[in-house]
Amino acid sequence: MLPDIEKLLELQVADQEIRKLQEEIAELPRRIAVIEQKLAGTKAHLEKARAAAKADEANRKKFETSIQDLQGKISKYRDQSLDVKTNDQYKALLHEIQFAEQEIRINEDRILEVMVNVDAREKDVKAVEARLRAETAEIEKEKEDARRVTAEDQKKLAEWNAKRDSLRREISEDILRHYERVMKFRRTGLAEVRAQKCMGCQVMLRPQIYNEVRIGEKLVVCDSCQRIFYYKPENDVIPEEAAGHYKKRTRPKSDSPQAWFYRPDYGDEGEVFLVFTNKDGSSTRRMYEMHTGRQIGGILQREGNYRQAFPEDLTDTALRLNGHWDESEIDEEWGTEIPSNVLDALLKDLLAIHREHRSGHKGHAASSSEHTAAS
Ligand SMILES: [Zn+2]
Repeated sequence: MLPDIEKLLELQVADQEIRKLQEEIAELPRRIAVIEQKLAGTKAHLEKARAAAKADEANRKKFETSIQDLQGKISKYRDQSLDVKTNDQYKALLHEIQFAEQEIRINEDRILEVMVNVDAREKDVKAVEARLRAETAEIEKEKEDARRVTAEDQKKLAEWNAKRDSLRREISEDILRHYERVMKFRRTGLAEVRAQKCMGCQVMLRPQIYNEVRIGEKLVVCDSCQRIFYYKPENDVIPEEAAGHYKKRTRPKSDSPQAWFYRPDYGDEGEVFLVFTNKDGSSTRRMYEMHTGRQIGGILQREGNYRQAFPEDLTDTALRLNGHWDESEIDEEWGTEIPSNVLDALLKDLLAIHREHRSGHKGHAASSSEHTAAS
């Protein structure tokens, strides 16, 4: 893995921690606001209950005052009745007294009504007061927790920020800029490649790109989401293997006039593709660098078919691949590089061979010599 990518992976962890901490710090005042709102509701309820109790008390006093006034009137009427001269006057006073007594009874009933309410109201006020006390204690505790957590978060944030700054200084500026631009829009700037897929956007990679990512010699960016790729062989899975089935690879014909081979170990060149073509009693050989598709050296031509003419190339490690392209196309259209669609096809076939070997699909054990020309 490229050192820049290793640093970027660490940076991404730091960036994500920083974001998480910032969100947590921002969340705490919101949580307190919610509890405070509840507290305000309880306070309003208490005010209302207290006001109602007060109104009851005022009413009771008003009714009692009315009764006292009425009793005063009655005793005044009684005094007057001692001095009356006529029966009519007496009757009139008696009527006034009866009326006042009736009024007293009405006020007494009202007082009773209020007294019945008072009990319920007192209970209500007491309950709301208790609730308010509990909620106030809760909010104090929440606030204290919030202050503590925020302080811890701020400390962690400062540590992560310092780590982030030092990591940023160690990464090439261009890569850093690309990472940060993608990070801003997609919340991650890197994506792992698994099963030939970008784990950031789930798009399949072309075999050539997949291969470049696996080799890990240069920075590769996802065509579709722009995230920078990283690769961990221990996490990779072959897609068809994971799904438990795959299409059986077709075998190249052993007598075809053209044969492609892969060699993992071609001297200083390393991994190469070789293509042999038989024509009119002689054969040609072309060699290409596997990762780039660039041609290595010129065209070799020898007498006889390729198996006889180039035995030194066809070692036990040579793997026979599918593929056939006319020599005229190779010479006239390809130039000195395998076109990317052809390179993709060859790499895909190579992956299929590795897959068959790995999955222990031994159905072709007897015919495995088809891969190699050793036999
Ligand atoms: Zn992607």
